[in-house]
Amino acid sequence: MRNKPKNLHLMEILHPRMPFNSQQEKIFTDAKKGFDGECAADNQMDAFLDNCIIINDLCLQANRFCQIDKLIIAPSTIYLLEIKNYGGTFIYDNKQFFNRKMEERDNPFLQLERTEQQLRMFTKAFDLPIYSRILTMNAAFQLHGSTVDMPLVPYGQLESFVRFVANDRRILTSSHYELARYLRESHQTQNRYEQLMPFDFPELKQGVFCSKCEAEMSLVSRRSFLCEACGSLITKRQVVQKSLEELRILGISQRAGGRLIREWTGNQMNLRGIERSLQFLNKNDHSNLL
Ligand SMILES: [Zn+2]
Repeated sequence: MRNKPKNLHLMEILHPRMPFNSQQEKIFTDAKKGFDGECAADNQMDAFLDNCIIINDLCLQANRFCQIDKLIIAPSTIYLLEIKNYGGTFIYDNKQFFNRKMEERDNPFLQLERTEQQLRMFTKAFDLPIYSRILTMNAAFQLHGSTVDMPLVPYGQLESFVRFVANDRRILTSSHYELARYLRESHQTQNRYEQLMPFDFPELKQGVFCSKCEAEMSLVSRRSFLCEACGSLITKRQVVQKSLEELRILGISQRAGGRLIREWTGNQMNLRGIERSLQFLNKNDHSNLL
């Protein structure tokens, strides 16, 4: 399973707890849409590609930094895939990419070309051709001005594209695994261009917020919190676990004792109960390591 990008996780925690300006809202919406598209692609592809090595979210740096949404090492070919979740109509004109309102957007085909150039530097010792494509995961996407030779797999053709990739009858050899190992070792774990959303911890709204709809949840019994907006239920222990994770993402996990968790969740649980949950979670964590 693909890891959620840190910034998206951070924005999900912050969104119900602080006001976002319009630019931040747009970054948040785009990040959610992008991640949903990537997960949808994983679900519709990975299970059918058991003759391939799949590497998701590979970050490489040669001359410049590049991120590859999905790289598939098949026996005869390397597939470099950029996954886009564009909805609606777009226009391609004179190597420029526009939305319906004729606002220029980043040209994904140029981005793909540059990424392929970077990838070549890492794969040149291995004798495999690179086949680069943009997968669009939204059936409503339309591109005016596109031609058949463009490296694009529209959503309606995804299934046949997967069959085409899976149809490679050769088998993987040690050289393919060596390439995969080399690429994974070259992966840059820190995306230094990523701007994390700024926040002021003492200003954040306290409470328990629903993971599905962001509404505020309240304690409705000795054990559970309820979201009245969507009907989701979550146990106190899950709330403590969720809070620990949230505080870790916010970078203040060192202080995440019972008192901080009580405040963070809106002072609805008593300290003894929180500490019991913490003890349980610690013990459980420990037993997982054994
Ligand atoms: Zn809800």
